[in-house]
Amino acid sequence: MPIATVNPANGETLRTFDALDARETERRVAAADRAFRSYRTTDFAERARLLNRAADLLDEDRQDIARTMTTEMGKPVKAARAEAAKCAKAMRWYADNAERLLADEHPEDADVKDSGASRAHVHYRPLGVVLAVMPWNFPLWQVMRFAAPALMAGNTGLLKHASNVPQTALYIEDLFTRAGFPAGCFQTLLVGSGAVEAVLRDPRVAAATLTGSEPAGRAVASVAGDEVKKTVLELGGSDPFVVLPSADVAKAAETAVTARVQNNGQSCIAAKRFIVHTDVYDAFAERFTEGMRALTVGDPLEESTDVGPLASEQGRTDLEELVDDAVGHGATALCGGGRPEGLGGGLDRGWFYTPTVLAGITPGMRIHREETFGPVATLYRAADLDEAVDLANDTPFGLSSNVWTRDQGEMARCVRDLEAGGVFFNGMTASHPALPFGGVKRSGYGRELAGHGIREFCNATTVWYG
Ligand code: NAP
Repeated sequence: MPIATVNPANGETLRTFDALDARETERRVAAADRAFRSYRTTDFAERARLLNRAADLLDEDRQDIARTMTTEMGKPVKAARAEAAKCAKAMRWYADNAERLLADEHPEDADVKDSGASRAHVHYRPLGVVLAVMPWNFPLWQVMRFAAPALMAGNTGLLKHASNVPQTALYIEDLFTRAGFPAGCFQTLLVGSGAVEAVLRDPRVAAATLTGSEPAGRAVASVAGDEVKKTVLELGGSDPFVVLPSADVAKAAETAVTARVQNNGQSCIAAKRFIVHTDVYDAFAERFTEGMRALTVGDPLEESTDVGPLASEQGRTDLEELVDDAVGHGATALCGGGRPEGLGGGLDRGWFYTPTVLAGITPGMRIHREETFGPVATLYRAADLDEAVDLANDTPFGLSSNVWTRDQGEMARCVRDLEAGGVFFNGMTASHPALPFGGVKRSGYGRELAGHGIREFCNATTVWYG
C-alpha cells in the first residue's frame, strides 16, 4: 500500500511519501534505544510535565489536526475534534495518575515473612523500546492511548502507523518533540507493513502493540512469539447490542444509531449486531431504521454531516460484498443497501455507503460471522434472554457488548455469560482512560488504558531482602 494521503471524500491523492529505507529505519531504532537508556531514569514529575505540555499543544492544534484526520480518513470533522480533545484528556489523566498506578506493591506481612524475607515488594520498571503498529480509524486516539501510558512508564515508542494517515503520523512525532521529550523518545517510522518484521526482530525492540485486523495481529504476534517478546493485540469486533423488554426502547434505538455509525461505522467497538427481544422487536426496528434513514451523509468537512465516506475503496468493496451476500441469501434491507446517489461536488467519486439496516440474518450468511466495518447494522429477533445471550456469543469476536434492561437479574446474567472484554448497560461502549479496554477470543488479548494498560509494558520486578 503506498504511503499517501488520499481524500476518501473524492478519491484525490493529496500527498505521497517515500518509505524510510533500511538505513534510516536503523538510525531511528538506535535513537529510540539510546533515548530509553537515559529517559528511563527520569522521574514521574518530569515525564508528567512533558506529557501535560504535549496535551496543551494538542489542544491548541485541535482545529488543524482535526481537518488533517478528516482529509486522510474521512471521519466527520466534529468527531475528529472530539477525538483530539479526548486524547488531551487521556494524556493529562496519565500524567496525573501514572505514579500512583505504578507505585510499589507490598504483599501481606505474613506472606513476606513466609517467603523468608525481612521485607519484599514489587517494583514496576519500563521494558524499553515498544513498537506500536496502529490503524487509521482513530488515527490520534489509538496512538495516544498507547503513547501516554508508555511514556509515563519510562518506555520509548516507535510508531508504524497505517499507510493512509502519514500526515497524522508525522504530526504525532512532531507534537512530542515540540513538547520537549528528549530526541528519540517517540518517533514515527514511515514504512509499509513489510518492514515491521525486521524492526520487531531487532534486539533493541522489547515489545509490540498492534491495533488492527486479525491477519495483521496474527502476523505481528507470530514474529513476536518467535522472538519471545511481549505483545498486546486489539483486533476486530462485532459487538452485540441486546435490547430486552424492560428497556427504554426509544432511548435504546436512538443510541443504537450513534453506536453503529460512529466514525462512519468503522469502529472496533461499534455495536454491529442488534439482538432484540421479540416483545420489543417491532418498536425497536421501526425507530432504529427511522434514525438510520434520517442521517446526513456527505462531505465530512461539513459540520452538519453525520456519516462521511469509508476510508478506502477496498473497505467499501468489502462492505458491499457482505451486504450483497446477505441479501442474496434472503436478508431484507429495511433501509439503505447501496451507495448514495447525487451527493454532487466531486463527492460522487468518494467512497460513501448509505446507512443500512438488514433484517432476517441467518447463520449461513457471511455477515453473521464477519465484521462489518461501515454503516451497516444487522437485526436479530430473540425469543428470550437465553437466545439473546447465545446469539451475542455466536461470533469469533469478543471485544465489548451492550445490553439494555432495567432488570438486575438479567444484568447479573449478562456480566456472567457474555464473552466480551466489556459489558455496557443502557448505553453504548466507549473508552475512558480510567477503564481498561480490550477483548477476548479473536478480538485480541491484553488491555489498554487504566492501570492494566500502563502495566502491560512494565517489568514487574520482585524485590526481596533477606
Ligand atoms: P489493518 O489492515 O490490520 O492495519 C492496521 C495496521 O497494521 C496498519 O498499520 C497496517 O499497515 C499494519 N499491518 C497490516 N498488515 C500487517 C502485517 N502483515 N504485518 C505488520 N503490520 C501489518 O487494519 P485496518 O484496516 O487499518 O483497521 C481495521 C481493523 O482494525 C478492524 O478489524 C478493526 O476492528 C480493528 N480495530 C481494532 C481496535 C481495537 O481496539 N480492538 C481499534 C481500532 C480498529 P499498512 O497500513 O501499511 O497496511
